[in-house]
Amino acid sequence: MNKIQFFGANWCPDCQRAKAYLKGNNIDFNFVDVDLDKEATSRVEAINNGKRIIPSLIINDKSYTNPDNSVLANILGINEQGRVILYGADWCPDCQRAKSYLQDNQINYQFIEIDKYDWAAQKVEQINNGKRIIPTIIINGKSYTNPDNSVLKEVLQIGKESELKVYDCIIIGAGAAGLTASIYIQRDRFSSLILEKKNIGGNAFLTEKIENYPGFTSISGPELTHRMAEQAKVYGAKIETGVVVKSIEAKNNLIDLQTNMGVYRSKTVLLALGSTYRRLGIPNEEDLIGAGVHFCATCDGPFYRDREVIVIGGGNSALEEGIFLSKFCKKVIIVNQDETFTASKTYVEKLPSIKNIEIHMNKESIEFTKNKSGNFRGLKVKDQKNKEESELLADGAFIFIGLLPNTDLVKDVVALNKRGFIKTNGLAETSVKGIFAAGDCREGAIAQVAAATGEGVLASYGVRNYFK
Ligand SMILES: Cc1cc2nc3c(=O)[nH]c(=O)nc-3n(C[C@H](O)[C@H](O)[C@H](O)COP(=O)(O)OP(=O)(O)OC[C@H]3O[C@@H](n4cnc5c(N)ncnc54)[C@H](O)[C@@H]3O)c2cc1C
Repeated sequence: MNKIQFFGANWCPDCQRAKAYLKGNNIDFNFVDVDLDKEATSRVEAINNGKRIIPSLIINDKSYTNPDNSVLANILGINEQGRVILYGADWCPDCQRAKSYLQDNQINYQFIEIDKYDWAAQKVEQINNGKRIIPTIIINGKSYTNPDNSVLKEVLQIGKESELKVYDCIIIGAGAAGLTASIYIQRDRFSSLILEKKNIGGNAFLTEKIENYPGFTSISGPELTHRMAEQAKVYGAKIETGVVVKSIEAKNNLIDLQTNMGVYRSKTVLLALGSTYRRLGIPNEEDLIGAGVHFCATCDGPFYRDREVIVIGGGNSALEEGIFLSKFCKKVIIVNQDETFTASKTYVEKLPSIKNIEIHMNKESIEFTKNKSGNFRGLKVKDQKNKEESELLADGAFIFIGLLPNTDLVKDVVALNKRGFIKTNGLAETSVKGIFAAGDCREGAIAQVAAATGEGVLASYGVRNYFK
């Protein structure tokens, strides 16, 4: 076969897409930049009846105008069967979870960063009806949108040990509390396993900067929790991500955990379940989640570089994340339903000095609005005093209005308080013998990383005491 002649330009997304595809399949080609070579421009026009369409490829003396990857696969005999292509980004927790799962199971895959290639971002949007949802994974030519590990397990037919091992302690949740507990439990020579439904790090993973964790003037949440996990692994801790614990049953001094990946068995269980973002419960919220409405600035903020966003809330998270977004967004509109902020003074006092933050107090959020194409348009608000309604226009919105404990799983297993937090005694014991709780899911937790690590230590002492 003659060397492929590739007429294109560096700014052209489809050229980038086709180049990446050829490179990814180790296919050699000669790239001719039409912006730099007038002769090449005339050649492209000749191929395309006077039109300047790129990429134009000449393969074995035959010309192809903007062929998509499946056309290239056909012409070049590239076998799409057995190929796993993961479209994602380094900052995306679910991409990390899926990547770890594929790596742990020795599955070869091609990782394409959508932040680097416009064509890749467009491809993801095209697959997901206009929504930029990652990871989007192509397996044997079929696309899967953010598949959880059980889906990957099934599609890729990944086997699992059938023997049911009995652990001394299974920890549910790989946040600060669970990771710290595992360091102590492993050092006490008990066998332990952490089951985590998402990625390692819990809520701290979502925090760009932690400035109040002892020993570090400033450290990112992912870096801090990564260090915790590495420390736990030094002592032999095992962590399985992508495992959703669905139910817990304690009988005959053993506890069975039903998960999306099968049954696990343990002598004790530590609930380090953390908490989740509260939603507004207003029209169009559900529909726009992930496509205009978000709960994590660190995760989704980069989509809004140089664009305008709304931040809803008035507590520490809202202001901290609003200030973070203001560093790279064109404008941040903070909407607070009360007359004053409940956030700490440090954040409130910073606000006036930030020029691209606009504040709307006393405004109740009543509806997310959409444009004619059904995409995010803005937020309808109602003034709490004069009851007038108005619409704030932006490119996206971030909701930070508090956290709910992730305790649905155990609502019929251990005693909870009225707000759903787990009741414990001084040794982190719940109402059921052998089941412990630590961190943000526990009644009285103060929702800080340092506090969660301390609670992890306490729970490990509870486990040690149990085995005594
Ligand atoms: C935006 C934001 C900013 C913050 N900033 C700071 C800060 O600057 N300083 C600070 O000290 N604290 C901060 N915090 C608070 C801090 O992150 C939390 O207090 C801390 O992470 C709690 O740790 P945890 O282990 O209790 O729970 P989490 O970190 O919430 O971890 C719980 C884990 O359990 C997993 N899980 C839950 N249910 C299941 C299930 N059924 N099966 C499997 N896994 C499950 C979850 O996926 C999660 O990973 C911030 C929090 C947020 C949201």
